[in-house]
Amino acid sequence: MHSSKGNADAPSLDPADWPQFRQIAHRLLDNCLDRLQGVADGPVWRPVPESVAAELASPIPRLGLGTEGTARAAERLIAPYPTGNTHPRFFGWVHGSGTAGGMLAEMLAAQLNANVGGREHGAVHVERTVIGWFRDLFGLPEAAGGLLVSGTSMATVVALAAARNRLAGADVRKLGIAAAPRPLVAYASSEAHGSAAKALELLGLGRDALRLVPVDTGFRMRPDALAAMITADRTAGRAPFAVIATAGTVNTGATDPIGEIASISSREGLWLHVDGAFGGLQILAPELAANVSGIEQADSIAFDFHKWLHVPYDAGCVLVRDRQALFDTFASRPVYLSGGEALAGGEPWFCDLGPELSRGFRALKVWWTLTEHGLDRLGQKIADNCALARQLATRIEPESGLELLAPVALNIVCFRALAPGLDPAPLDRLNAHIVTELQLRGIAAPSTTRIAGRLAIRVNITNHRTQPADIDLLVDAVLALAKELRP
Ligand SMILES: *Cc1c(COP(=O)(O)O)cnc(C)c1O
Repeated sequence: MHSSKGNADAPSLDPADWPQFRQIAHRLLDNCLDRLQGVADGPVWRPVPESVAAELASPIPRLGLGTEGTARAAERLIAPYPTGNTHPRFFGWVHGSGTAGGMLAEMLAAQLNANVGGREHGAVHVERTVIGWFRDLFGLPEAAGGLLVSGTSMATVVALAAARNRLAGADVRKLGIAAAPRPLVAYASSEAHGSAAKALELLGLGRDALRLVPVDTGFRMRPDALAAMITADRTAGRAPFAVIATAGTVNTGATDPIGEIASISSREGLWLHVDGAFGGLQILAPELAANVSGIEQADSIAFDFHKWLHVPYDAGCVLVRDRQALFDTFASRPVYLSGGEALAGGEPWFCDLGPELSRGFRALKVWWTLTEHGLDRLGQKIADNCALARQLATRIEPESGLELLAPVALNIVCFRALAPGLDPAPLDRLNAHIVTELQLRGIAAPSTTRIAGRLAIRVNITNHRTQPADIDLLVDAVLALAKELRP
């Protein structure tokens, strides 16, 4: 029975027995460390058994299980079935691999339970520090600002909202996008990530507002085609407002010629946004940094800490060249959020730079990771991953049973197994089957994509645990499975 009377002097939600809670907490921490330390000994991935899924789908508990019961349930039902991205042979999509230190930072952040929407407290200073670090690394001016968000998808929404607000030719905050005198359009290469189109959908422009610029043989945006498309859109009465250049495409790791694109967008008065989700961080590796030259001219940059910097999920960042553009787009403070003295100080508040009011302390795990390992070591791991990708390409090239499907520009290798005499469709199915079996058997977890219509085994290495032997093991397994599974 519910009582509407309440019971004001009932105990809080804190443990009734702190010593016992400590024991459970220490045991859980040890188990977490055991899992991390031994991750390479287990399978990369295993399916969630139906019985476990059914148990997880149980109704909301009316009465709690207590700390011990909850910890046991979590370790039995959840911990054994991870994504796999902490394993050295996780090569799917673009996933960072996390760190042991990042786990500690998450625990500390949870203890502090900071709300980083604003006000005056330590967490706000940490986030400002992190923003300043990356503003300087990317060569943006002092006037730049930004904030931490869930990831590059959200960072792109925030950045393009600022671009739309500045260039729509109408007060879109008050009147909405319908008040824009001409339809707004933006440009990205045909290899751009799906989050760009999604952002334009959310901003009320529609996905057709994203014009896909053709790429060259290295899968990079063709600046000549971009210039021609801008001219054609203007002639047709549309209003080009933004160009999205990609540093590190998700399919092949290609980086658009950002400098050339910057010249065009500056000449045309467009907002240059760089999607540098993982590839923007090439800037941290001296031998790769030149690939992203021109990024310092961007009006905004979106990138992730949870990919190539291995900060635990989730943590991304948006940087905007002119911080005022974020204020103009998002600032709005009703009376109950008035700034003031003491705890109500700490201006500017992050809630005025983006769409969210309550915000977690993502900056702590970023600060922690950089402070623990240092920029040089993290940059070296990025360069090492690219060396592993080259190692993989070097193993594939002489194998008559394997074929490279795209140049290896960075950390991504797209290839496939060949089976002489097999038609294109069954060959695609064979390669998809190889990937499925690699995952099901827990050997490795690449993903798939299509390159020029052909199904590719796609190996992305944003993984600080991968060693050369893991690459050899993968190639051997693909070759063996190609023989075994061939129809
Ligand atoms: C992963 C990725 C995104 C999306 O980033 P999230 O952090 O998943 O939101 C965008 N662009 C590229 C190139 C990516 O690799």
